Amino acid sequence: MTHTDSPGARSAPWVVLKFGGSSVSSRTRWDTIGGLVAKRKSEGFRVLVVVSAVSGVTNALVALSAPGGDIAQRREQAAALETRHRTFAQELGLDPETVIGDLIAQLHALVDDPRAAVSALDWQADVLALGELFSSRLGSAYLSANGLDLRWSDARAFLRAQVLPNQSDWAARLSVNCRLQPEPGFHERFAAQGDTLITQGFICADDDGRTAILGRGGSDTSAACFGALLGAQRVETWTDVPGMFSANPRQVPQARLLTRLDYEEAQEIASTGAKVLHPRCISPCREARVPLWIRDTSRPDFEGTVIGPRLADAAPGVKAISTKRGIVLVSMDGIGMWQQVGFLADVFERFKRHGLSVDLIGSSEANVTVSLDPSDNLVTTDVLERLAADLSEVCRVKVIAPCAAITLVGRGMRSLLHKLSDVLAEFGRERVHLISQSSNDLNLTFVVDEAVAEGMLPRLHELLIHAQAMPVEETAVFGPSWQELERGAAPLPSPWWAQRRQVLMQQAGQGTPCYVYDLPTVREKARGLRRIGALDRRFYAIKANPHPQILRTLEAEGFGFECVSAGEIEHVFNSLPGLDPTRVLFTPSFAARSEYEAALAHDVWVTLDSVYPLRHWPELFAGRDLWLRLDPGYGRGHHEKVRTGGSGAKFGLPLAALEDFAQEARRVGARIFGLHAHLGSGILDASHWRDVFGRLAAAAESLGTISALNLGGGLGVPAERGADPFDLDALAHTLAEAKALCPQYSLWMEPGRYLVADAGVLLLRVTQVIDKGGVLRVGVDGGMNTLLRPALYNARHEVFNLSRLDEGDAISCDVVGPICETGDVLARRRRLPETFEGDVLLVDTTGAYGAVMASAYNLRGLPAEAVLE
Ligand code: ASP
Ligand code: MG
Repeated sequence: MTHTDSPGARSAPWVVLKFGGSSVSSRTRWDTIGGLVAKRKSEGFRVLVVVSAVSGVTNALVALSAPGGDIAQRREQAAALETRHRTFAQELGLDPETVIGDLIAQLHALVDDPRAAVSALDWQADVLALGELFSSRLGSAYLSANGLDLRWSDARAFLRAQVLPNQSDWAARLSVNCRLQPEPGFHERFAAQGDTLITQGFICADDDGRTAILGRGGSDTSAACFGALLGAQRVETWTDVPGMFSANPRQVPQARLLTRLDYEEAQEIASTGAKVLHPRCISPCREARVPLWIRDTSRPDFEGTVIGPRLADAAPGVKAISTKRGIVLVSMDGIGMWQQVGFLADVFERFKRHGLSVDLIGSSEANVTVSLDPSDNLVTTDVLERLAADLSEVCRVKVIAPCAAITLVGRGMRSLLHKLSDVLAEFGRERVHLISQSSNDLNLTFVVDEAVAEGMLPRLHELLIHAQAMPVEETAVFGPSWQELERGAAPLPSPWWAQRRQVLMQQAGQGTPCYVYDLPTVREKARGLRRIGALDRRFYAIKANPHPQILRTLEAEGFGFECVSAGEIEHVFNSLPGLDPTRVLFTPSFAARSEYEAALAHDVWVTLDSVYPLRHWPELFAGRDLWLRLDPGYGRGHHEKVRTGGSGAKFGLPLAALEDFAQEARRVGARIFGLHAHLGSGILDASHWRDVFGRLAAAAESLGTISALNLGGGLGVPAERGADPFDLDALAHTLAEAKALCPQYSLWMEPGRYLVADAGVLLLRVTQVIDKGGVLRVGVDGGMNTLLRPALYNARHEVFNLSRLDEGDAISCDVVGPICETGDVLARRRRLPETFEGDVLLVDTTGAYGAVMASAYNLRGLPAEAVLE
């Protein structure tokens, strides 16, 4: 501590500690607060504690002061609040009468106040202020009783509401900003109170001394304003979450803790939806250059989020995706707005008249659409009706609600656009009402119907990471995921290879690159799928990994085999002599006539996905039972190149051509026995297959000849071992529901990657380690020739240094192969232990589409393959 000579000295810097509702609602939490205050004092600070009301109290006060309430009801509400605080006082071992008797009396007096009849704004302010007055009083008495020398301070004596031009009466009393310039004598007056103070959040006073309110959640802003006025060392907001996250963790458990943000980024995240901080609390800190910490009261030693000035070397990247519900869009069609002077002025003058502040704006020559944000506005049906009536004098008005705004926040958004194609495609599937890109280059917002927003978030988050638009490997910024934090100290599930490390090192000794497959893992995955009772038959899509031992393992587990070429069919029958041909499905794409002939000669199931074969080779299919692959018009999947539905993909018969196909089949004398759809890979939410089932069942009904439905595969495999695995129970549940609806159809599925990805690893040997211009590259003896997925699909695979598994991470590097291509990068910006030539690296989750996609490019050898029983 360099700022002070002796702890508690008058010249010591202030630190502001703010505690939210749940952090002040129990005796143990107050003990934590006491501990923290004592600690900061011992570190040499003067301490100002700013508190919220006890959990739920502000809500109750809002209800009590709502316009139109009757007196009897208000008396009941007041009695409940009295009991709540009396009980809490007792829990704290305090005498309620002495500590909060006067506040209880004030509460009852306010209910009987004549201003209540008209719900006057200044009456509402007086009522709302009670919550923080109660909590600060109780806390002050409790901490003093427990030996802390601290004084209670009335925030209204120090925080002044700032009058803003154009402010509505409501905002001027109940959603105010505070002045950040100290009044003359402020510092002396403040310091005279003592070194250790407790005061209220949420409330301040106007120049006439009347109580004013900082808006819901405004205690953070109180703390920030005090921090700015006092030139504090920092403001710490203590809350019930560990910090700010890359998405709302309740919706996206994979969301990552953001350990370091600059003021502007934090501002965007807070104002676009994150609830952790009140959006107005950042600018006071930014202006006064006071850092803002977010900390978790339930884990006081955990370093949460630090918000401070921008770092000079900050790379562009999406830091968070946030959402805000309850957005109202007002769409205005102006007749002849193009180049007309003053049209926008006319329009916006009317918003101003109704005290409404506009957030987003989109405009064209004939239309202006704006959004109203519920947290900045009192948006009631009444206000909207009056606004619409006024606006209709100058344009045609349409109100679109309820909507939600989904915002990507991060520095350098414009330079990231090329990485957002998958994210944009995801939005393309929904109705987007408005897109807006902020002029500060920090935000890109999409306004969609409220009902669809929440469901989109986990996918969008995953796509952002996948496309490397959200640089989660930047460990200075991205901390652990919510899920990891929740799991706490429980160890991560350890992968099979961690137990077989010695064997793998020996294997690597016999030559690299080498893929190694663990058959017990294949079996375990197969058994998971066998437990899905609604499925009648299961097939393994062998293109993922046709290794004969894997085929034998899955045959023993009762699986059939899905093949996409005559070569694969031959391979299956060669590897599994005597296999019943009805356990083989042939689902080719643009195959030659001779391949169909070969398949039919084997008597396996044949799938067509266009009318072409029927029309041109009718004699092949006469008297046959066929499968038909449909394209319901959209694809899914982790990357554009694995999306196999929709007009952009070459697969499947469009629904519109179904009747044509059926006619042709009848003419040829073939029966359509089953319908199939496979829309893509890497899908993690089970509801997808319900969708597919619904579409196939509808088509089946129109055909009348169908006995079976094949729902395809595509079950996602998370790139990280720590992430939540694919939820098989959810899939089982969904399929059971589907089956119950249409029990007449036999249900088939044909996963590939899901069965084998986790069972395989790729072993590579380090060739060279080079630092070029600050980028450290670890070279290995196999690259895109050995494992194509990163180059082809941007796929993420975890990389471990198997030779140094017990050493801590020390470097951040790219892992690159020996191929003469810039795209020959297996992994970017990964943390590894210090790594040397000769080390063995393990690339995880490579049992699928690994060896089988390897090539001889650059005339390098193909990888070896080994199998562990
Ligand atoms: N008690 C106020 C509210 O609930 C302010 C706060 O807690 O930040 O809105
Ligand atoms: Mg709060």
